[in-house]
Amino acid sequence: MSSTRSDPVHGVRSPYLVERMAGFGTTIFAEMSALAAATGSVNLGQGFPDSDGPPALVEAAIAAIRAGDNQYPPGIGIAPLREAVAEHQERFWGLRFDPDTEVLVTAGATEAIAATLLALLEVDDEVITFEPYYDSYAAGIALAGGQRRCVTLRPPDYSFSFDALRAAVTPRTKLVLLNSPHNPTGKVFTREELEAIATLCVEHDLIAVTDEVYEHLVYDGRVHIPLATLPGMRDRTVTISSAGKSFSMTGWKTGWVCARPELVAAVRTVKQFLTYVHGAPFQHAAAAGLRLPDDYFEGLALDMAAKRDLLAGGLADAGFTVFPSAGTYFVTVDIRPLGETDGLAFCRSLPARCGVVAVPTVVFYDDVDAGAPLVRFMFGKRREVLEEAVVRLKGLAS
Ligand code: PMP
Ligand code: GLN
Repeated sequence: MSSTRSDPVHGVRSPYLVERMAGFGTTIFAEMSALAAATGSVNLGQGFPDSDGPPALVEAAIAAIRAGDNQYPPGIGIAPLREAVAEHQERFWGLRFDPDTEVLVTAGATEAIAATLLALLEVDDEVITFEPYYDSYAAGIALAGGQRRCVTLRPPDYSFSFDALRAAVTPRTKLVLLNSPHNPTGKVFTREELEAIATLCVEHDLIAVTDEVYEHLVYDGRVHIPLATLPGMRDRTVTISSAGKSFSMTGWKTGWVCARPELVAAVRTVKQFLTYVHGAPFQHAAAAGLRLPDDYFEGLALDMAAKRDLLAGGLADAGFTVFPSAGTYFVTVDIRPLGETDGLAFCRSLPARCGVVAVPTVVFYDDVDAGAPLVRFMFGKRREVLEEAVVRLKGLAS
């Protein structure tokens, strides 16, 4: 069952903040990036790359600005992007969506997630999700007045108990909120796991909301399987993604939702009062990105996998227990071999001790004991940056 998270993790609590947002003061990403800037540390905390994505996207955004595409675009998104999203879903995943009624452009996946939760949850409805969870899920559920019920992913492979999943269903369960590839663990859910989730959704008539922002960051010959491709799931899944990770432009905040028309209409109703529309030039750029040839996407994943290997090797040499990462920007470790038990305290001390910033994954758990000794490192940086981090981390043991 949901727990109220303590404020010290997230900073100062404002007396003006509504009760349902208590505990969400400052995100761990903002805290850790500020710490990195203040201490001049290598920032392997917040998940953003340190080199730009494809020049073709930069040119597309600039061309759109120069062409005068600077006024409000349509609320559902410009047609070229909705068409590019639909083409992309069919090209990579064999899913067909009507770009006019089944695709909605949003201000990043973050808005898509919030708008979906606000659109679909009545107060006290329950959402089943997996912990550690991406922080905006907890906040989005709280904003909507819903409750989260977490199924715990456990290292080394971050698998979960199917019995625990079934036990999480109650008469108030409305949604299952899934993130695969998964932040912060780097887990890519297997077909068997997805089938268990799909079976549950069909049996209990639940809607699935899937966050697939790392859909193209999957390594070692594994495949990303969108939940919507499983039997019975196409019309009960809201599939969410964005351009940030696929094109290494996390600041552009261009996202989208794909679902059947009735679900898209519900999300659109809320979305129009959150941001109304999303920046026109970035939509042109994202459309260009989604149409890049296959070798772009393959090259991105190969490059990222090599970076993962570099950092994971360095973390193992530094003495951590390193858990396998099959996707995303992230690799997680257990800090106990270094004689540490408290990931939050460890991450707060790490800049002073060796000039590296990481993220304690305990802040993404309701079961804080499960997450206490786990820490996330981000490997989507330039090689020389990762090499420097590895050298610094080795100094920890001495
Ligand atoms: N979901 C997950 C799992 C993420 O890691 C992130 C962070 N980028 C987001 C959603 C947010 O995506 P966007 O920047 O497109 O809003
Ligand atoms: N998704 C990024 C991460 O997990 C952070 C985005 C943010 O700062 N909200 O690190």
